[in-house]
Amino acid sequence: MNPIDTLSRPLHDLRISVTDRCNFRCTYCMPREVFGREYEFLPHDQLLTFEEIARVARAFVDLGVHKIRLTGGEPLMRRELESLVSMLAAIPGVEDLAMTTNGSFPVKRVQSLKAAGLKRMSVSLDSLDDATFKRMNDADFPVASVLEWIEASAAAGLGPVKINMVVQRGINEHSILPMARYFREKGLILRFIEYMDVGHSNGWRLDDVVTARQVRDIVNAELPIEPVEPNYRGEVAERYRYTDGGGEIGLIASVSQPFCGACSRARLSADGRLFTCLFAVKGADLRGLLRNGADDEALRQTIGHVWQKRVDRYSELRSAQTADLPKVEMSYIGG
Ligand code: SAM
Ligand code: SF4
Ligand code: SF4
Repeated sequence: MNPIDTLSRPLHDLRISVTDRCNFRCTYCMPREVFGREYEFLPHDQLLTFEEIARVARAFVDLGVHKIRLTGGEPLMRRELESLVSMLAAIPGVEDLAMTTNGSFPVKRVQSLKAAGLKRMSVSLDSLDDATFKRMNDADFPVASVLEWIEASAAAGLGPVKINMVVQRGINEHSILPMARYFREKGLILRFIEYMDVGHSNGWRLDDVVTARQVRDIVNAELPIEPVEPNYRGEVAERYRYTDGGGEIGLIASVSQPFCGACSRARLSADGRLFTCLFAVKGADLRGLLRNGADDEALRQTIGHVWQKRVDRYSELRSAQTADLPKVEMSYIGG
């Protein structure tokens, strides 16, 4: 039975954060001043085991979820992620199994993930120039290795490969056109994401957001684009195609044009809490249930009830007041 929330939104997809750790310190996500040496990440025994994650995923699939995405933190920081991928791929009813990564691990992992049953890869990359990218990832990581990961993913058929670029005013605005040109040439889908006020660490200000409209106008001035119909209801990216047939881009206007009305996404944190919004403060403790011996029916019922009570629409309500509300960090809840 597919649960419906108080705003008539069905539960369709599940994002699973497998770890709150990351080898990058992107300034908009895990700034080093906050996520430094002293920062206490979740201890290992508090993380869901792969068996526990698969059990929770099965309950979601029973409730009507067909799309699962692995994220984090950096999902590849979790050892032997391939075993989890194969456990999830084996669940009947999982039609789409995707991962979001920073693409910084050895490219041979692309093959092993594909062999384990991964279907699609999204890779985050904020600039094509090393100086800007390194300033943003704050881990001295070069662009070339991420491009290799992207190439390997496309070659392995983990597509359509999507590239996610968070655009920040004054930081990587100048990379919009070079990124558009490069990925158009490669035939890959570049998605521009508005910089969001997730968590409390990144010092977000509305002025730092380059809106989807502004990005669209910048691209359109050099490479004319036109809107395309969404693939499905609730698709977060607005799609545009190059008028000369050179492929498409996506614009994710989470701040300037929120899409809460069609948000059908649940999030499972690495320590087994169920969140019904990226900006939620509290999550339902599924790990406690699992470790106290709850059966599958009890698990399904809890998830169903949480969803039926769901009222979240943070981005639609976003205002000067909400910016100061308590929130959890994106690296914890899973981007
Ligand atoms: N580490 C992986 C990666 O970077 O792809 C997966 C987790 S990361 C939290 C998921 C996505 O969230 C990335 O594409 C990242 O750029 C995006 N993200 C992180 N902080 C953000 C923010 N403040 N605003 C918008 N997007 C953000
Ligand atoms: Fe790590 Fe991804 Fe956050 Fe960057 S965006 S710090 S790669 S979790
Ligand atoms: Fe969904 Fe919350 Fe984002 Fe709105 S703010 S689209 S409810 S995750």
